[in-house]
Amino acid sequence: MGLHSQRRVGAPSRRPAAGKESVRDRGAALEAGYSGIVEPAAGRPRILFVEDERSISEPFAKALAREGFEPVTAFTAAEALALAERMEFDLVLLDLNLPDGDGRDVCRELRRKSDVPIVMLTARGTELDRVVGLELGADDYVVKPFSSAEVIARIRAVLRRSGNGSPAPAAAQTIGELTVDPGARQASLAGEELDLTRREFDLLVRLARDAGNVVTREELLSSVWDENWYGSTKTLDVHVGTLRRKLGDEAESPTYIHTVRGVGFRMAAP
Ligand code: CA
Repeated sequence: MGLHSQRRVGAPSRRPAAGKESVRDRGAALEAGYSGIVEPAAGRPRILFVEDERSISEPFAKALAREGFEPVTAFTAAEALALAERMEFDLVLLDLNLPDGDGRDVCRELRRKSDVPIVMLTARGTELDRVVGLELGADDYVVKPFSSAEVIARIRAVLRRSGNGSPAPAAAQTIGELTVDPGARQASLAGEELDLTRREFDLLVRLARDAGNVVTREELLSSVWDENWYGSTKTLDVHVGTLRRKLGDEAESPTYIHTVRGVGFRMAAP
């Protein structure tokens, strides 16, 4: 029985050699005679992605990996259930139409043993599918065709909701004269509290979490803005601009928020 009863939810974070490891884990888990449970590595939510259409599963698994998740793909209902027996997952993304069965049966079977969050993928966007999927214990559903950003936002929302409470807020951080305290939602510069809007604060926290490393524009947009955000990415630049001004950063030689052209932004290392 490999699924979580206690959910371990955390913000996705970097981990070395993650892609390799997930391939190895999957191979190990599928090996005959393997009896142990493969634990997910700390901090990188492992997603079981059950989808037989490779044109969907391959690019989407890449998007999941890029966004800090550890995807494990199953192409059939049988493979999904076998993997769920042997590995622990933080969430299951489950296609409704599988070559060897109905995703709803897989959902029911998973639910018998575990309360792992399940998001159903369905091509049939009828009210009936919705009700049946959710009655079987799925946490949410997404109608095809979907964008990877849409599903990843949905996964994040389900993980946030289903975590036993939200993940513990990160500890206060000091970067030069800047102090960011996500728990207290306070930031100060040289001891003076900064007056930040909600978005500016969230943006600051997200950048500070990976201080010293670049955070992509896509990641900033999906983690700081609502999951239903389809607006212009100009918004991001406007917010970075006002945040920089409040931090006393000059665009040409910033102390804190550095632009990584074509990629995103990087907060100075602590
Ligand atoms: Ca399918």
